[in-house]
Amino acid sequence: MAKLRFSALQEVVTRTPIEVQTPPNLADFYGINVFDRKKMQVYLSKEAYNAVVEAIEDGTTINRKVADQVATGMCKWAKERGATHYTHWFQPLNDATAEKHERMLDFGENNEVLERFSGKLLIQQEPDASSFPSGGIRNTFEARGYTAWDVSSPAFIVGETLCIPTIFIAYTGEALDYKTPLLRALSAVDKAAVRVCQYFDKDVKKVNANLGWEQEYFLIDKALYSARPDLAMTGRTLMGHASAKDQQLEDHYFASIPTRVMAFMSELELEGHKLGIPLKTRHNEVAPNQFECAPIFEEANLANDHNQIVMDLMKHVAAKHNFAILLHEKPFSGINGSGKHNNWSLSTDTGVNLYSPAKNPKGNLLFLSFIVNTLKAVHQNQDLLRASIMSAENSHRLGANEAPPAILSVFLGTYLTNMLDNLAEKVSDSRMTPEEKTALKLGIGRIPDILLDSTDRNRTSPFAFTGNRFEFRAVGSSANCGAAMTVLNAVIADQLTKFADEVDTVIASGKGKDEAIFQVMKRLIIESRAIRFEGDGYSQEWVDEAAKRGLTNITSAPDAIKKYLEKDAVKLLTSLGVYSEIEIHSRVEIEFEKFTKKIQIEARVLGDLAINHIVPTAIAYQNRLIDNIRGIKDVFDTQEFEKLSADSKNLVREIGERILAIKTMTYEMVEARKVANSIENVEERTFAYSTTVRPYLDKIRYHIDKLEEVIDDEIWPLPKYRELLFMK
Ligand code: ADP
Ligand code: MG
Repeated sequence: MAKLRFSALQEVVTRTPIEVQTPPNLADFYGINVFDRKKMQVYLSKEAYNAVVEAIEDGTTINRKVADQVATGMCKWAKERGATHYTHWFQPLNDATAEKHERMLDFGENNEVLERFSGKLLIQQEPDASSFPSGGIRNTFEARGYTAWDVSSPAFIVGETLCIPTIFIAYTGEALDYKTPLLRALSAVDKAAVRVCQYFDKDVKKVNANLGWEQEYFLIDKALYSARPDLAMTGRTLMGHASAKDQQLEDHYFASIPTRVMAFMSELELEGHKLGIPLKTRHNEVAPNQFECAPIFEEANLANDHNQIVMDLMKHVAAKHNFAILLHEKPFSGINGSGKHNNWSLSTDTGVNLYSPAKNPKGNLLFLSFIVNTLKAVHQNQDLLRASIMSAENSHRLGANEAPPAILSVFLGTYLTNMLDNLAEKVSDSRMTPEEKTALKLGIGRIPDILLDSTDRNRTSPFAFTGNRFEFRAVGSSANCGAAMTVLNAVIADQLTKFADEVDTVIASGKGKDEAIFQVMKRLIIESRAIRFEGDGYSQEWVDEAAKRGLTNITSAPDAIKKYLEKDAVKLLTSLGVYSEIEIHSRVEIEFEKFTKKIQIEARVLGDLAINHIVPTAIAYQNRLIDNIRGIKDVFDTQEFEKLSADSKNLVREIGERILAIKTMTYEMVEARKVANSIENVEERTFAYSTTVRPYLDKIRYHIDKLEEVIDDEIWPLPKYRELLFMK
């Protein structure tokens, strides 16, 4: 193994960047691999084109005849682009996209071979889905689930395969994927937000949720990655002493991008642009070897598909450039982990961003209504929001003194904070005088453009207003944004509905519309005050203060995930039709299973590395020290021997003690696993893994990392942090 480490390091030294040729004109290749509207116009009959557009915009269904026409057109286009296969592309609940390629192969009337597929196959397929997680919904003997075309997300080509985005549902109708509930939540928020917008503008008929994700990741040389079984099998290092220098000097963030990485980024962008993914931003992140890419925001369902495609592309492009990509939330202990900020907003079909301050009082009252309802929704549903982003991986970040804390809070900036406090204070419960109304309206009519510059940003907030959107920053880098976006849009939909119900009631009692809105807003501002926080979200003071405010702080993954099952959460999600009760239970079970399996794999890999790699290395070095002590004894008299061997003797003892600790704890961990594995109940097993198995990972690691510090570098088997993390 030590040999492997050194040959890997040698391989890295000889690497040269792989050149990438990007054609000069973006317009010539942007979207070339997407069956977008422009191509539909060319390849579809007018009738088929109109039917698809209507289906996208109004949610109408497409009949078989039209589907056949679309399939024919899509096939023709795909073949011209070199595709030979097609697949329904979907997002099962195992955190990877799924595809089962089929050759475009069919027989005609005279048994002649044809390259095509039918409308029937475009619309719906039944993959044998028995191996995808279903959380008990689908027994394996009833393996049927089916995929159905999501018309709103365009088909695209990767390699030789035409990919058709689809939802994935059980034969009995329950969702088995991330996309289905997301589409339901987007439809719920559309309906609720339109209702609120209608107080201000009757022309608003549709509200879209937008998502702009920022994907963080690490790149590691492929050879070094392969020499680390823990990275290769769990996505993170289960051991490794901190490098003397890592991110202290803050010299990596926004620094010039290493040449090899630049080549990777260029190719990723090129491939992304061909797929119509508007990748725009690329830069170094805080930790060494950590980077980020971000596209321009898009409608949330499409944006999420694009994120899934990019995560997949990254793996392929990285391999080509002799890198392994790490999307894990915490690949290295002691330095920053990776997240995926979800920049989120709502906008109308009349072109208004509902989270952008307007230029007039009416527009700003609309804007403030959405801000205040968002505050209320986050305050009311902290636990549900946290449940949507928690996982074994993300629990390394949440609440562990780095971005973001496990306490949900909202940052608004001073200007809006003052404005809301002012509103809460000034709006009287009784009828407002005309002067009061005018003063208020004037006040909110004057929100300065400064907000858009978002100068006073707060990087420690898990949910921050940044001028024209909110950034939900607690989402993990490896996550499917669908889970978080489903819950966020659902809780907003729920709150906006309650708001409109209440405003209607106040209006019915004889008050004017504006006054009714002010009155309800005032109550919401007061009720949700505790969720607003402008200070340092990583500090101990905030943990104490948040507890005083009654905000929840849950760092254990199973505890956080379980909050999906709270009565209020179930009621909210089911009443909107976002999840059925069965679906909620199945998802929680899947999350529990994922947690358990991941900890199980980590425990196994660590046990293997500890006993088969680290302990033998430690014994070998200990024996060398013992030989050395004997030699000193042969050469020197007793007095000198005592002096010269004292340190080595201590080290022999220390190594011995650590070997013993590692072995003992590894065996205890195996026992704890056995006990946990014998528990039938999924939830109880998960909690057992969390409380009795997981703690050993850190405790064993502690001793291994100490050994790494004292054992001869020549025989240390695994590439070290300082070798993994610094790329030229
Ligand atoms: P940051 O300074 O937060 O790192 P970036 O420029 O990296 O910002 O990413 C910001 C993301 O937010 C981009 O995807 C951008 O398109 C997106 N964004 C900008 N405005 C909105 C909006 N109104 N709604 C949703 N996302 C937005
Ligand atoms: Mg951001």
